Amino acid sequence: MRSLVVDAEWDPRPEYDVSDDERESKKAMNASRVWRNPELRVTERERPTPDDDEVLVRVRYAGVCGSDVSMVETDEDGYVHYSAYLGLPNVTGHEFVGEVVGTGTDAQLFEAGDLVTAEVTDYCGRCHMCRQGFQGHCENFEQLGFTIPGAFAEYVAVPEKLCWDVSPLREAYETDDEALRAAATIEPSTITYHGLFVRADGILPGDHHVYHGAGPIGLTGMNVSRAAGAGNVIAFEPSDERRAIARELGFEHVYSPIERDPVETIDSITDGEGADVHVETAGAVGQTYPAIEETLAEGANVVHISNAGADPDIALRRYQGNGAQLYGAEGHTGQQVFPRVIRLMAAGRLDNRSMITSTFDLSAADEAIRRAAERVDGKVLIEM
Ligand SMILES: [Zn+2]
Ligand SMILES: [Zn+2]
Repeated sequence: MRSLVVDAEWDPRPEYDVSDDERESKKAMNASRVWRNPELRVTERERPTPDDDEVLVRVRYAGVCGSDVSMVETDEDGYVHYSAYLGLPNVTGHEFVGEVVGTGTDAQLFEAGDLVTAEVTDYCGRCHMCRQGFQGHCENFEQLGFTIPGAFAEYVAVPEKLCWDVSPLREAYETDDEALRAAATIEPSTITYHGLFVRADGILPGDHHVYHGAGPIGLTGMNVSRAAGAGNVIAFEPSDERRAIARELGFEHVYSPIERDPVETIDSITDGEGADVHVETAGAVGQTYPAIEETLAEGANVVHISNAGADPDIALRRYQGNGAQLYGAEGHTGQQVFPRVIRLMAAGRLDNRSMITSTFDLSAADEAIRRAAERVDGKVLIEM
């Protein structure tokens, strides 16, 4: 089958202490310290066979994520930007939808013909974290498209416990193709849903939400905030193209943080009350946090989602003075986040289709990654 494979050289930086596990498995806990001179190629691979507890999915669409881009972007020494767990060579891609075409002998949840998407983190269910209900922080985790073969391929084998049925979307959209394209954006939508409603506490209908960064995660998040009853959704995004996509999605308060001072803008929209919810999806924390901390409404929730290269100074006194809290959020595993996002889509309350601005065939999947690296699209999809 055809697939997009990322490979690179295993060349740990001298100061990086490689563990025995990492050396044996050729999986680096911090890819940016180990993997060098990455290469992307569309290549033939053997079709996977599902393990006993897996389903085999014929992939229809898969979205390109910032993490897919950061596996092939490098610093001046040739090391990849991606700074988490990564084993290469691997088929990348983790935001997908497809049709179940086969099931392992113990798999019981799905049958051939079902349309599914999947969570990314494969968890063990037995470790201390899993047994506390934090499967997303499993101590023995693997990740689809990072350390196990992912979805930029004609077929992917996925543990059935990670899969969710998306067939309700068939009712919500005019054609199956539209439903499938929408379903490919479920995974990015779950990231902010998890941050807002699993991690943060006490977000209320009518709250003012501010997104700092309207890339793919910010844009899907703005849609989630609107679906959840935000009073206003305000966004700051330097890219002209991405601001245009946000307006296309129906958001009116969309500004360049370079042309419009975020603090004054938030003050004027909220009558000086500040934002109840700030979502950091930019990663430019040196710029965003000073503005966030000057516009905290009483009891504000700050949800930190981006992968920032460095840490900002935190104005602790402002959090104290406003009874505000800062929540770190990553991933989306468990807590029924996926089925709830799917219900919002099926109910017609969350429609991400107009943020899909480029679609590439699997044979040009390497071009899709390069296109996403230009950071002007809402979402780049690959069609299998
Ligand atoms: Zn992703
Ligand atoms: Zn575990």
